[in-house]
Amino acid sequence: MSSNCYIIYDNSIRHCIVIDPGSEHSLREIDFIESGRYSLDYIVLTHEHTDHTWGCNALIEKYPFTKIVCSEKCAQELPHSSDAYFRFYMDDPDYQYKVKKVDITVHDKDILDWNYISIEFIMTPGHTGGSMCFTLNNILFTGDTIMKYKLFTNKRFGSYEQMRSSISKLLSTYHNKGLTVYPGHGEIFKLDDYDND
Ligand SMILES: [Zn+2]
Repeated sequence: MSSNCYIIYDNSIRHCIVIDPGSEHSLREIDFIESGRYSLDYIVLTHEHTDHTWGCNALIEKYPFTKIVCSEKCAQELPHSSDAYFRFYMDDPDYQYKVKKVDITVHDKDILDWNYISIEFIMTPGHTGGSMCFTLNNILFTGDTIMKYKLFTNKRFGSYEQMRSSISKLLSTYHNKGLTVYPGHGEIFKLDDYDND
């Protein structure tokens, strides 16, 4: 998949987190985890789209104690989200993919403590109903809510108005904090450089 998958890892304790594994077999992710002998603690999903979630099952088969974290709405949508994806984009109406489990659903302002680091969630519906962003130190992971070049709203399950208000919420919450955005597609950039026109 052409989406961005991120791995956060701590070499002192050799634990890691995977964000948005989008490729079916998660080969590169598993390769990285194995070669660094990391424990995979969490898989965090920014939203329910298949290009951000398709690799979940491969990872939890290999690492069954890994917990999958996403918003409540994302968890509700996950069982259906691949149907349209494979029908329209992969031209394969018979292919079925369901993320096998969700362990933790998070809400606005929830915090997940991981190895003395706080991961703070902010709900940002719009691109899809289940979209969320989160900060970790000075990084803001945005999924498909904010990317450098385009705004994309899912016509059936998203809302352009909701997305605009989620972006305003992000910009006002994190204004002038020097955060770097790690988006779901494309390159990283500074939040304060984001052009909201
Ligand atoms: Zn998406």
